[in-house]
Amino acid sequence: MDQNFDVIVLGAGAAGLFCAGTAVARGKRVLVLEHNAAVGRKILISGGGRCNFTNRQVRAENFLSGNPHFAKSALAQFSSRDFIALVENAGIGYHEKTLGQLFCDNSAQQILDLLVARCDGAEIRLNAAVQSVGHGDKFTVRTNGGTATAAALVVATGGLSIPKLGATGLAYELAQQFGLDVIPPRAGLVPLTFSGEDLAWMQSLAGVSLPARVGAGKRKFAENILFTHRGLSGPAVLQISSYLHEGDAFTVDFHPAARLEADLLEAKIRRPKAELKTILAEIMPARLATHFAGLEAKRMADLPDRFLRTLGARLNAFALTPAGNEGFMKAEVTAGGVDTDGLDSRSCMARNVRGLFFIGEAVDVTGWLGGYNFQWAWASGHAAGMTV
Ligand SMILES: Cc1cc2nc3c(=O)[nH]c(=O)nc-3n(C[C@H](O)[C@H](O)[C@H](O)COP(=O)(O)OP(=O)(O)OC[C@H]3O[C@@H](n4cnc5c(N)ncnc54)[C@H](O)[C@@H]3O)c2cc1C
Repeated sequence: MDQNFDVIVLGAGAAGLFCAGTAVARGKRVLVLEHNAAVGRKILISGGGRCNFTNRQVRAENFLSGNPHFAKSALAQFSSRDFIALVENAGIGYHEKTLGQLFCDNSAQQILDLLVARCDGAEIRLNAAVQSVGHGDKFTVRTNGGTATAAALVVATGGLSIPKLGATGLAYELAQQFGLDVIPPRAGLVPLTFSGEDLAWMQSLAGVSLPARVGAGKRKFAENILFTHRGLSGPAVLQISSYLHEGDAFTVDFHPAARLEADLLEAKIRRPKAELKTILAEIMPARLATHFAGLEAKRMADLPDRFLRTLGARLNAFALTPAGNEGFMKAEVTAGGVDTDGLDSRSCMARNVRGLFFIGEAVDVTGWLGGYNFQWAWASGHAAGMTV
């Protein structure tokens, strides 16, 4: 069946659905093509099933991109306040968990329902495998279910994270087909893996979690870290993972509240008979304290000042180099993607092909953990939806 539309949106995820709803509200005839059997699968599992749908404070510095200014225009046109207003109008209860992160009180399904309701009037075709995209006067999209044409094509097929939920590299293939550059995609917000001695001691602590400050260069995140059977995870580690390239080191401050060098020397004077592991266990989980203090009993009085200074300084800036990360199977997001240099920041339209748009995670704009990736999906979807 041949059909003509104003807009074809590829991908019924967060960005695609938001873009489709925005275009429908402007009276556009919209077709959404999704290869899964259902829309918005990633939304449903997001935020542990409660969808961290935005953050109260959204700034350009909360995103990684080859061009840190690119996201500003779309984020300014559709802010987190705008999305919160939609949530409130839909009567969806929500709460702030931490650091401005907003979650549904009940279920991520409510956010998906909101998005689908906004698309009323659009045609959403499921199980639609895109076979080819051509471009003459219009865009022609061939799928297993027939051919459709439109003056505008919005690519919202996301990145490579979580292939079992339907992730594919279609956006990158189409970018290349139309002459846009792609920044090599890599796993972001992903647990880190270690090898050798580091892996051995981390495995022995699997399950232990504690607040810490994790840093690489000037970038620092103060949140929890979690030891796992493969290395390290937890929000602070996921955050720093997006900034690490192969072979990069990072540091963990196991006690950001104070300089341990001074504290340990003071403890030696005040409590000479106390054991080192007892002192350390007052500021970190007991299993971690025992690991750093060593298994045999060591009274503070018997430990040289030089040893305590070195240990204190090390625990405030513990240097680690991961062997790698858990990859796209576990990554919450894909860093890299369609190069923003080829896109107009106001509309996310390709500079070289009129009517071709790239939005959401497919683009080289990657948010921190905390609702920023959905806010980028809404904002970029809105920017394109207002222009198509
Ligand atoms: C476990 C998990 C939890 C997360 N939690 C949060 C959170 O709480 N807050 C937050 O801000 N972010 C969260 N994220 C990140 C967020 O889900 C994504 O950044 C966001 O969904 C990106 O939106 P998108 O529309 O660009 O891509 P997606 O939501 O991935 O949508 C892309 C759509 O395109 C479809 N598609 C792909 N290839 C094709 C093809 N070839 N043909 C047709 N259709 C195709 C896919 O099936 C999918 O439906 C989480 C991610 C994961 C994996």
